[in-house]
Order: sequence, then structure tokens, then C-alpha cells
Amino acid sequence: MTSAVTTAPGGAAPALAALAYHDGQFVPLEQARVPVTTQALQYGTGVFEGIRAYTQADGTLAVFRGHDHYARLLRSARTLRIDVGLDAERLCAVTAELLRRIGSTDDMYIRPLAYKRALLPGTPPGVQLTGVSDALSVNAFRMGSYTDRGGIQVAISSWRRPESGMLPVRAKVTGGYVNNALAVDEARAAGYADAVLLNSRGLVAEASTSNVFAVVRGRLITPPATADLLEGITRETVVTLAADLLDTATGFEDLARDDLCNADEVFLTGTGSEIVPVTGIGGRAVGDGTPGPLTTALMTAYHEVVRGKHERYHHWLQAVGQDSA
Ligand code: PMP
Repeated sequence: MTSAVTTAPGGAAPALAALAYHDGQFVPLEQARVPVTTQALQYGTGVFEGIRAYTQADGTLAVFRGHDHYARLLRSARTLRIDVGLDAERLCAVTAELLRRIGSTDDMYIRPLAYKRALLPGTPPGVQLTGVSDALSVNAFRMGSYTDRGGIQVAISSWRRPESGMLPVRAKVTGGYVNNALAVDEARAAGYADAVLLNSRGLVAEASTSNVFAVVRGRLITPPATADLLEGITRETVVTLAADLLDTATGFEDLARDDLCNADEVFLTGTGSEIVPVTGIGGRAVGDGTPGPLTTALMTAYHEVVRGKHERYHHWLQAVGQDSA
């Protein structure tokens, strides 16, 4: 089949797929546009997801935990009174159809976005969640693993993660990502790859687009949902794999900044970043400055699971060849 995926100039940036699902139709990506009056553009009132699809051993493509991502999208949407118009099953089917139409069997990244669009007749202009129409768009692009398996250096951000009384931090709301963008920008300007954000209580919340795990005195720990973090699907995958495959229980416990700096191992988890070892924090080495044994074992397990090498987790993989939207 001819692939509809455009090639990135120089191969550096992820190549954009040429199709999107937009307003209920599959259209060329350049037609998936929004007017400047779009409410979400003006007020950040959109919700989104990042989903990966992985090439399997037989060369086919499968979406990893798509249903869980869409369940989270629907929860996020509910928070902003966005009617997505499709349930999680249907969203999975649309995604599979989009990937089939794009026709690539390379690893893909899928970006669904549900957002507030236009004021309904009779609604006066202003910041509001009612009296505004809703819309859904899904696009996908070719994106392989970009994890630095040798480990990254992170900064502790001077930007704090907002608490849940300020923003719905458990929802993936576009406007909230101003905080993440500022944290990444600050970290990169200082020469770090990413930032760890503390919450308003000064405890570890998460990294800019991933969750944080640490091995502290031999125990695997990740901050609880009450630490004002997005409950990552990769975080949950890692907790499951650690328990099932490595006989390691995860403690959901608050981490102080110095717990992190004195940890034996630290790693980040996210759909995009997968599992990435943190080998330095604020210029200090984590452990001996190389990825630790538990981090390495979890990375191996995760990469096997997403490629369908563990039958036990096949329920997390949806073959793109199946179903029809
Ligand atoms: N925290 C934030 C702020 C994120 O943007 C992400 C990426 N979605 C994560 C954590 C990790 O979530 P997941 O494992 O579901 O991708």
C-alpha cells in the first residue's frame, strides 16, 4: 500500500501524516483548520491525549492502551463540559481507521483534541463553558522512540505545578500546559533536558510531560495522585509490570526534593518519552550517574510489551487492521 505519510525534511522532525479526522470526516491534514475565533484557541479550553501505536513483530501496527487514553480524554472533556460525541470504543475505531488510511506501519503518535469551538447563537462573548459548541480532531504522525536510554539531566523547576483547586490537574487540559511549557523552557535554557515540578507543598509532582519514579532505599516509589499530577497511563503500566514481571511493589508516597536527589535511581514515564532514566538532577548525579538496574529492567519489559512480546498484555494492544469506523 502507498503510504500517505509525508517525509520530514532532513528526517529531524516527526513527519506529519497527511490525514486527520476532523469534524466527523477524514480529510487531508491541510483542511483540518480552525478559525481564529475558536474559543479553545483564545482561552485554552481544549483537552487532548497523546497515544502511541507500535509496529509489532509481524510488521502490523497496534495502538497501545488506546481505550485507556480515550477514557481519560472523556473524563478530561467532562471537566470542561465538552461533548466529544463519541464513546471510547468509537474513538478507538476512528483512530484505527485513520491509521489504516494513512497506511504507515511505522511507529505512530496519535493526537486527539476535543475543544470548545464557537459561541452558539445568543451566547454573548466571554470566557465560558456553556453556550459554546464542541469539536473533535484527531491527527497522527510517524514518530519512533526518542528516549535517551543513556539517561537525561533534569532541573528542579522554579515553576510550581498548580494545585487541583487552581486547575483540574488530573485532566489533560490544553490551557494548563502553559505551566509545562514554561518549565521546559526554563530547564532547556539552563542546559537540562527536562524539568521536575514540585507542587504547591514543595513535594515532587511530575516532570513536564511525564511522571516521576524513584528507587529510595531499595523501594520503588511514585508520588500519589494527590501530589497534583496527571495520572499517567505509562505510570500505571510500569506499576503493573514492576509487580507482575519484577516482583516489585510500588509505593504511592510523597517524595521530597531531597528524596529525589538522594535516590538510587530515578526515571520518568510517559507515552511519548516511554521510560527515560534520569542520571542527574540539578547538576548532581543520581546514584552512580548511569541508569540503574530496576530502570533498565523496566525499560526492557516495557519495550517488549508495547511490541506484543508478552501475550499476557495483548489486551493493551489494538491491532489497526481490525474493526471499521
Ligand atoms: N504528566 C503530564 C503533565 C503529561 O503531559 C503526561 C503525558 N500525557 C504524563 C504525565 C504521562 O502520562 P501518560 O503516561 O498517560 O502519557
